[in-house]
Amino acid sequence: MQRRVVIVGAGLAGLTCAQELAALGHAPLVLDKGRRPGGRSCSRKDEDGRTFDHGAQFFTARDPWTATRVAEWHEAGVVAPWQPRGAHADHPEWWVGTPCMGALAEHLARELDVRCSTHVTAVTKNEAGWHVETRDSSFEADTLVMAIPAPQAAALLGELAPTGDTDACWAAMVRLSEGGAVDVLERKEGPFSWAAREASKPGRSTRPGEDLWTVHASAEWSQAHLEQPAERVAHELSAALADALSQSVLGAQAHRWRYAKPRVDTPVGCHVDADAKLIVCGDWLQSPRVEGALTSGRAAAQRWAELR
Ligand SMILES: Cc1cc2nc3c(=O)[nH]c(=O)nc-3n(C[C@H](O)[C@H](O)[C@H](O)COP(=O)(O)OP(=O)(O)OC[C@H]3O[C@@H](n4cnc5c(N)ncnc54)[C@H](O)[C@@H]3O)c2cc1C
Repeated sequence: MQRRVVIVGAGLAGLTCAQELAALGHAPLVLDKGRRPGGRSCSRKDEDGRTFDHGAQFFTARDPWTATRVAEWHEAGVVAPWQPRGAHADHPEWWVGTPCMGALAEHLARELDVRCSTHVTAVTKNEAGWHVETRDSSFEADTLVMAIPAPQAAALLGELAPTGDTDACWAAMVRLSEGGAVDVLERKEGPFSWAAREASKPGRSTRPGEDLWTVHASAEWSQAHLEQPAERVAHELSAALADALSQSVLGAQAHRWRYAKPRVDTPVGCHVDADAKLIVCGDWLQSPRVEGALTSGRAAAQRWAELR
């Protein structure tokens, strides 16, 4: 009889775990509170349809398994290499989703049973496995995979959750007047630590007379401004960017990533509690980036196969 696995979280870790389980012939159910899959590796449209990659900017493929997957996705047209002007020279190859970062998650989700807009409000261990409660329904699972950030996992799992710390990040999506000779800015001081010109990424559409940029505030600035109104944050970050580029601001919005960047001390791949039939995965158990999420999701599927 088919065992039912419920995966909470359709970020890249949860989707990778689901894909790997599906490849083994299983049919995991993936639940996510967001309107689309992708979690922190996603894209957002403004009210006029301009697209910004406001979470992850690019990703790397350092390990051989990731490199193989990236080659497949490149072949499928959902990722492409990115060589922005102004980036430091000694980095591994940078990849981006096309036509936006969210495209990769959409691609991974397309043949899976992924239910978005499904907020998991409680998970309870019982003799048969797990009872998973959402805002308007519930599911039973033999095994539960939690593929959500550490603080959110702790809120649902209590003492069954491993511990982890995360830093917040304010992101601003900025429209500037056209111009500029660089595509990325990396800063060690000041309000923002990173800024990227959207149009420099492959497959993006452009509009005459404007340049779209995504700006990420530093961890310190984000923490100090965590509870500030988004309008004020958008104003401050866009002004700092415009100043750095000598361009003018045409408009800006801000998004707060409360659980943006985990602090990973010891990479473990994933956390397994065999007695509880519980697996926890996500970037925070491997490395604080897309590649960490992908490899953690894969590790979760491998460990699940061992649990059976
Ligand atoms: C601003 C920013 C910039 C970044 N830049 C880069 C970069 O340039 N390069 C790079 O490699 N990485 C970058 N990262 C990190 C990268 O985005 C993450 O490492 C990766 O996307 C994490 O994937 P994940 O699946 O582990 O978690 P997530 O993407 O966080 O996925 C977790 C999912 O769980 C869902 N969820 C949470 N709670 C519940 C619940 N109760 N019920 C249902 N669903 C729930 C969420 O909606 C989410 O979709 C960046 C992250 C941020 C925030």
